[in-house]
Amino acid sequence: MIPDDDQKALGEAARKFSREVLLPGYLKRDKATCWDRDLAREMGGLGLLGVSLPEEVGGLGERSVTLGIVTEELGYGDYNVSQLPINVCLNASILLRSAPKHIVEEWVPQMLTGDKLMAICLTEPRGGSDAANIQLRAHRSGDDYILNGEKTSITFAGDADIFLVFARTGTVEDGAKGVTAFFVTEGTKGISRSRFDDVGSRIIGRGSLFFEDVVVPARNRVGDEGKGFTQVMQGFDYSRALLGLQACGAAQASLDEAWAYAKEREAFGRPIGQFQGVSFPLAEGESKIAAIRQLCYHTLELRDAGLEHTAQSAMCKSMGPETAFNVIHQCLLTFGHYGWTMETAHQQRMRDVMGQEIGDGTANIMKQIISRSRIGRAAIQY
Ligand SMILES: Cc1cc2nc3c(=O)[nH]c(=O)nc-3n(C[C@H](O)[C@H](O)[C@H](O)COP(=O)(O)OP(=O)(O)OC[C@H]3O[C@@H](n4cnc5c(N)ncnc54)[C@H](O)[C@@H]3O)c2cc1C
Repeated sequence: MIPDDDQKALGEAARKFSREVLLPGYLKRDKATCWDRDLAREMGGLGLLGVSLPEEVGGLGERSVTLGIVTEELGYGDYNVSQLPINVCLNASILLRSAPKHIVEEWVPQMLTGDKLMAICLTEPRGGSDAANIQLRAHRSGDDYILNGEKTSITFAGDADIFLVFARTGTVEDGAKGVTAFFVTEGTKGISRSRFDDVGSRIIGRGSLFFEDVVVPARNRVGDEGKGFTQVMQGFDYSRALLGLQACGAAQASLDEAWAYAKEREAFGRPIGQFQGVSFPLAEGESKIAAIRQLCYHTLELRDAGLEHTAQSAMCKSMGPETAFNVIHQCLLTFGHYGWTMETAHQQRMRDVMGQEIGDGTANIMKQIISRSRIGRAAIQY
């Protein structure tokens, strides 16, 4: 992928922000216990949150590839903060595609400025891989729906202002066709939430949401009844390629730091970079990250061209975080005992990137998607 002039300019703005504002505070933000709203607003002000959204709603109207460039640049400075443009573009496009006008008009502009955060609430305590098999119920009562049940492992559960909640309106036998999406705002009576003590991505935070007789007006249904699952899954093809680039950005930061260290640090009277045992693993890391980066941009190019890219997205997601984790691990080792402290960023990048080996669908589920693209339903286990 060779960026055009506009993409170069936006990439440069994101790079400057990432290296000058995000990177110096990356380790400090790991200690945060809530999302940094001021930082989000600053990003909104710079136009970094609505890169691929239409200009009519306040976005930049750029292609998916451009959002990929911005995401990778931001991932270099702070893996967690680079999640925000993905969150905003993915969630706002789900709303633009399927939500009633009154929801789009009120909430999308506030997401773009960084003022409001939206969480996607699909996973339930009994499991997330079999995502269509959800139990949280929504039953119709006049002009409303009444929601009862629990969601868990939800990104931004502690801080989100709005929730897209997937609920069962049909029978269990209906599977994915019995799932409907609802737009629910924070503070609605009957909702409570908890926050987990996670391994990584602590500033983002995950948690559970509990729904007890929560009344949602029917006008806040997103899309048709029974269409919720297919609507959200379309979005995942987009986010998975972007998550791959987020991971590439984080791994590249560790690689750059490790190369600089290998040039300066001496052992046996010479820079350690002269030992192939030090430089070759880093060279292999460079190669793997370069390959995944190109796959991610290729996937986004397919998307921009309106071509099928489900399997490619799954490849980005199954390989990106895992490879980045391994590459960052190698960078940490390059620093010897200095790498084994909480004061270098490698440990934090490993913890942060690892979360995406699970979130948004595990590598096993990605491999199922890839297999299905080759041999269809013969690849599905029952
Ligand atoms: C950082 C993070 C962020 C997340 N954010 C969100 C969010 O915003 N919204 C949301 O709804 N959910 C979110 N999740 C939940 C996530 O989508 C689920 O954790 C994920 O889908 C896996 O579900 P599970 O954890 O219940 O594992 P399970 O489904 O119980 O699977 C357990 C293990 O078995 C394997 N497995 C299961 N089925 C198969 C199979 N058929 N073949 C091979 N292996 C299989 C899995 O790969 C996994 O290793 C997040 C999770 C994390 C870690």
